[in-house]
Amino acid sequence: MSIAENVALVRLEMERAAMACGRDPKEIKLCAATKMNDAEAVRQAIAAGVDCCGENRVQELLEKQKQNAYAGAPVHFIGHLQTNKVRQVVGKVDLIQSVDSEHLLRAIDAEAGRQGILQNILLEVNIGAEESKWGFTPQETLQLIDKIGQYPNVRVQGLMAIPPISHISGENRKFFQKMFHLSVDIKNKIEDNVTVECLSMGMSGDFADAIACGSTMIRVGTAIFGARNY
Ligand SMILES: *Cc1c(COP(=O)(O)O)cnc(C)c1O
Repeated sequence: MSIAENVALVRLEMERAAMACGRDPKEIKLCAATKMNDAEAVRQAIAAGVDCCGENRVQELLEKQKQNAYAGAPVHFIGHLQTNKVRQVVGKVDLIQSVDSEHLLRAIDAEAGRQGILQNILLEVNIGAEESKWGFTPQETLQLIDKIGQYPNVRVQGLMAIPPISHISGENRKFFQKMFHLSVDIKNKIEDNVTVECLSMGMSGDFADAIACGSTMIRVGTAIFGARNY
């Protein structure tokens, strides 16, 4: 199957999942997770109508930007970002989805300030409380929102989560539901540089469940590009 056919199938499944729970399919964005796929594959996904591209590694991002791979679509950073690489990413992407520590947030805010820009970000929540994963606990997320005014050069547009790997259908719903409740709790707080339009959750194996639980952005790699060759 071609990338275009895969994107069409994912769109169809997105629509079905949205309609099944009475949501407008237009509320949900499709982010192509492009890691390990080349510029030509990225161009095909954009031509097929994905809403944005998400890149995991700084080097890959910069290489593909040099090749003008993302023309016509916003590009997001979705991988773990080391503070020493913040300079290479801030101002170069439309959204950093994976702000996973206050240390990183501070570095992004400082760099955005230096550049005189407002950097859009999401806070990454470690919703499965996994030792192996970066991200804030729900409680840390709420506490951070309370003092987000300390970071005036970022705009928090919402939350992102990668729940534990699951091979059982529906198993991740409890995590998606927790994320939805957290996003509602944050919506009830009023802070100048915070909106919670974006709830980024759901990947190839579980995006229909994520949509049922309120996701507004799914990040899909394998279902668009096929299995990755590590
Ligand atoms: C790779 C990746 C995805 C997509 O995963 P698939 O299972 O291939 O759809 C989504 N989000 C992040 C952060 C990723 O690294």
